[in-house]
Amino acid sequence: MRILIANDDGYLAPGLAALVRACEGLGEIEVIAPEQNASGTSNSLTLSRPLSVFTASGEPVKGYRVVNGTPSDCVHVALTGLLERKPDLVLSGINNGANMGDDTIYSGTVAAAMEGFLFGIPAIAFSQTEKGWAHLDAAARTARSVVEQVLSAQHAAPFLLNVNIPSRADADALPRRITRLGRRHASEPVIRQNNPRGEPIYWIGPAGDAREAGEGTDFHAVANACVSITPLQVDLTHHAALAHWNQHLARSAS
Ligand code: MN
Repeated sequence: MRILIANDDGYLAPGLAALVRACEGLGEIEVIAPEQNASGTSNSLTLSRPLSVFTASGEPVKGYRVVNGTPSDCVHVALTGLLERKPDLVLSGINNGANMGDDTIYSGTVAAAMEGFLFGIPAIAFSQTEKGWAHLDAAARTARSVVEQVLSAQHAAPFLLNVNIPSRADADALPRRITRLGRRHASEPVIRQNNPRGEPIYWIGPAGDAREAGEGTDFHAVANACVSITPLQVDLTHHAALAHWNQHLARSAS
């Protein structure tokens, strides 16, 4: 078993080291992570410049491969030339904060896992629901338990799982629910300020609160003290809308 572990908070993030430690003994582990915090970079690849990789030294990051790019860059480079052998599993995280509902669109944590999935490798993204790394040990034990259980069964096709772990000391004892993504309200307004030259600058505001958070959603599971596990797919096609647009926009050759 070869396991590739990445994240989006950067190679020095405590959540990455915790996940790596938690997975010790499950297989041969390679770590590749961004040099800087790259949260919110989604699936972006760096195409305008080459990427550099260095190997980190000093505990706890000794041996980690570090890329001056995005989470997707890290996994992409690992799978297309850096690693000698293809991993059997890609893990991402543990992220500093929730990745639920619409977050999954922007998340670099989910994107790193998705990059593996796009290459046909099973992948799991892990996030703690609260920022600040409280009870990170419990989250790491939870992640290991999820990985062990996933590895103990056969799965017909590669999969992409998005796991959100409540930031609690008893996280690894909580029930686990298989969920669908909820939805958030629109983001908070942008914060406008002036720079020292009096010119306007804009800070993107925080994500909105949960809007669609009913039974069965990731938000609902976490609000009810459960670990949320959402199986994701990449196909963004709005299948139910195909008939409508066929009627209103399609045209036969004239
Ligand atoms: Mn992050």
